[in-house]
This record gives sequence, structure tokens and C-alpha cells, in this order.
Amino acid sequence: METQKTPPIEAKPILVSACLLGLPTRYDGQTKRSEKVVAFLAKHGYQPIPVCPEQLAGMSTPREKTFFKCGDGFDVLDGTGVAHSAKGEVMNEIFCRGARMTTHIAKLCNCSHALLKERSPSCGVHQVYLEGDKVKGSGVTAAMLIREGIHVISEEDI
Ligand code: SF4
Repeated sequence: METQKTPPIEAKPILVSACLLGLPTRYDGQTKRSEKVVAFLAKHGYQPIPVCPEQLAGMSTPREKTFFKCGDGFDVLDGTGVAHSAKGEVMNEIFCRGARMTTHIAKLCNCSHALLKERSPSCGVHQVYLEGDKVKGSGVTAAMLIREGIHVISEEDI
């Protein structure tokens, strides 16, 4: 007897900061797995595409903590901001590379949305660290994704 096949449900691809999904990608080798994020993805039928811009750029894990010395991610993209490591090394070039790699993956995977870790110098959406202070601003990757028309959501917005 011929049976009718149920068409597969198309999951929507979404970029997600890898550390939020439980991957130990943070600068200190830890993860920031969020059950709230995992539940949100399942509830809305999203297919997560895990990305860590800093690892994609070629940085090792663990690695030096990085924060902004001047401006935020948009300013780094424009050449007027400075991201530097705890040792004082300017990190603009490698952070821009991570942003480009992540944007490339978003396009390859047809992601119209990205769900990112707040306050990271790469992934922060509404806030970042400027010389140790929490300030309004975006990370370098979040800034590039926004400029490329990707709808960027903070883990704290869900
Ligand atoms: Fe997580 Fe983004 Fe930092 Fe990678 S760069 S550890 S994905 S917050």
C-alpha cells in the first residue's frame, strides 16, 4: 500500500554564539550554556548554526581577555575604535577577521537572524566593556552582522 509521506518541517537557520550552546569557546576556556537559549531555539523551530568569531579568526582557547579601549565594534570596523587585549596588544585586525568569517557563514547558511552573547567584544549586542566599564555598544561581529542586514538578537532579549 502506498503511504503519503509527511513533508519535513523546514527548520530556520540562525547563527548562535557557540558558548551559549555549551561549547567551551570562551577566552577562559569555559562555556556559557544557556538553557533559556536552547529552549527558545526549540520553541521557535530554529536550526542553530554555532559560531565563535574569535575561534574562527584563529585565536586559541584559552586566550587573553579583550575589551575596548576606545569606541565599540562599529568604530573598530570604521578604523576609529580600538579593541585591545589585557596585555595591551591591539586586536582590531583579528577581531575584524572573525567578524568577516562569521558573516560569510551567515550568508552561506542563509541565516537572516543571529542570537549572540551579550557584552562580548565580538558578540555583544547592546553592551560591551570599555576599559572595564560596561557601556552601551556592540561587539565587532555584531556590528558587521547588523550592517549586513542580519537581524541580531541579544541572549538577554529573549
Ligand atoms: Fe562566545 Fe562570541 Fe566569545 Fe566566542 S566570541 S566565546 S561565541 S561570546
